[in-house]
Amino acid sequence: MKEITPRGQDYSQWYLDVVLKTDLADYGPVKGCMVIKPYGYAVWEHMQADMDRRIKETGHVNAYFPLFIPKHYLEKEKEHVEGFSPQCAWVTIGGGEELEEPLAIRPTSEALICSMFAKWVKSWRDLPVLMNQWANIVRWEKVTRPFLRTTEFLWQEGHTLHATEQEAEQETLKMLGVYKSFSEEILAMPVVRGQKSESEKFAGALRTYSIEALMGDGRALQAGTSHNLGQHFATAYGIEYLDKNQQRALPWSTSWGTSTRMVGGLIMTHGDDAGLILPPRVAPYQVVIVPIPPRKGDWSEAVLPKAREVMAALRGAGVRTHLDDRDTQQPGFKYADWEMRGVPIRLEIGPKDIEKDQCVLVRRDTREKAFVPLAGLAASVRERLEGMQRDLLERARRFVSDNTTHVTSYESFKQVMADKRGFLVAGWCRNAECEARIKEETKATVRCMPLDVAAEPGPCVRCGQPSPAQVYFAQAY
Ligand SMILES: [Zn+2]
Repeated sequence: MKEITPRGQDYSQWYLDVVLKTDLADYGPVKGCMVIKPYGYAVWEHMQADMDRRIKETGHVNAYFPLFIPKHYLEKEKEHVEGFSPQCAWVTIGGGEELEEPLAIRPTSEALICSMFAKWVKSWRDLPVLMNQWANIVRWEKVTRPFLRTTEFLWQEGHTLHATEQEAEQETLKMLGVYKSFSEEILAMPVVRGQKSESEKFAGALRTYSIEALMGDGRALQAGTSHNLGQHFATAYGIEYLDKNQQRALPWSTSWGTSTRMVGGLIMTHGDDAGLILPPRVAPYQVVIVPIPPRKGDWSEAVLPKAREVMAALRGAGVRTHLDDRDTQQPGFKYADWEMRGVPIRLEIGPKDIEKDQCVLVRRDTREKAFVPLAGLAASVRERLEGMQRDLLERARRFVSDNTTHVTSYESFKQVMADKRGFLVAGWCRNAECEARIKEETKATVRCMPLDVAAEPGPCVRCGQPSPAQVYFAQAY
C-alpha cells in the first residue's frame, strides 16, 4: 500500500502525497507544470460543468481568445503591465525566425479581450457585454506546488462591459456571490468574501474582491477573485461608444476568475491522514463496489453477476458508480485504496449479503457502516451522498469558526499567528506601510475586508490608529 505522510508530521508532504499517490496529478518535464491525470481531471470536469452552468445562468456567454498577446497590447495599461511583466513568458522565435514583436503567452486576457471589445462595441445598444472564456494561463512562478501554484493552469475568466459604474460594481459582486455559493454548495468549502487591500488588488483594477477559504493547516487560500476595473482598461484600450444622447462615452469593465487552484483547496479542506475525501458532487466515482469472493468456488459466478446488476441499477439512477473487479487484489487492499482516493461510499457485496438481499455501505468521511437492503438501494445511496455533502460543509464550517480568532492586542496577534494560525480578525488602519510591517513580522497578510460582517470601528491592532472596520488576516498560500 502507498504510504501517506500524516498531516501532523508534515502537512506540505501530506498534500504532495495525496496529489501524487491518488493519481490526481503528476509533475511534467518543465518545472512548475503539472499533468492533470484522468482522476484529477474528472474532478475538475465536474467543477467546471457546474461553474459553467452558473456563469451561463447569470447571463454570460462563452468565447475563446488567442493564447498569444502582442507586447505592445500588454503595455497599454501601465499598472497592469507592471504587475504582470515579471511573470510573463515570451515567444520571440516563430517558424525559425526572430519575431518582429515578442508575443506574451497570456498571463490573463484583459489586454487582448479589451482590444477586441474596442473593435466590437460602438453603441449603447452593444452593452452590456457579458463574456467568459475557459482557457489555460501561464505565469512564471518561482515556487510552485501542484494545483495551488503552477506555471500553467486552467481557469475561467469573465470579462464584462457596462454603461455605468453602479452596474459594473453590481456585476463584480454578483460573480463574487456566484463563486461563494459554488464553493460552498459544490466543494463544501466555506469561504469569507470581501474586498482586497490596495496592495493585494489586481494590477490595474479599481477594486478587487475575493473569496478566502481556510485550509487544514490554518493557512488561507484565495479561491476566486472578482475585479471592478473601473474605466482604466476602457481608457487604455480605447473602448468608446455613443450613448443614448449620441455622446461619446467610456464603458466600465469587470473581470473575474477561478482556476484549478480550487482543486488544491478541496484537498486541504477535507482530506485526512488516510488521504483524500471528495465531496459527492465532484467525486469522479460516488460509489465503488468491492465484491467479496466466496470462500470456495468462482466469484465470477457467485458474486460478480449481482455486483454488475447493482452497478447498473445505481448508474441507471444517476449515481456515478465503479465496480472494482480486479482479481489481482484482495478486498482489504481495495478498501484502503479507494479510501485513499476519497470515494464517498464503498459498497461491499459478498455471497452472504446476496443471500440476504443486502449489501454494506461505508461512508468515507465518518466510516459509518450500514447493512442496506438491495431493494430501494439507489434511494439509500442518494440519501447518504446528500448527507455527506451536507456534513462535510458543516464540519468545514466548524473548523473555520474554531480557527477564527478575534484579537485586540498585537502581542496576542503574534502569539496566535505563531501557535495555531487560522483567520485573525482585527482592526487595521488601512495604511499600506502598517500592513507591510505586519506581514514582515508575522507572515500574515490582510486576506480581505469582509462584506458579511458588520463594521466595528476601533484601533488598528498594530499601530493603534483608527480602523473603520475589522479585517481578516492570515498566512496564505
Ligand atoms: Zn496600523
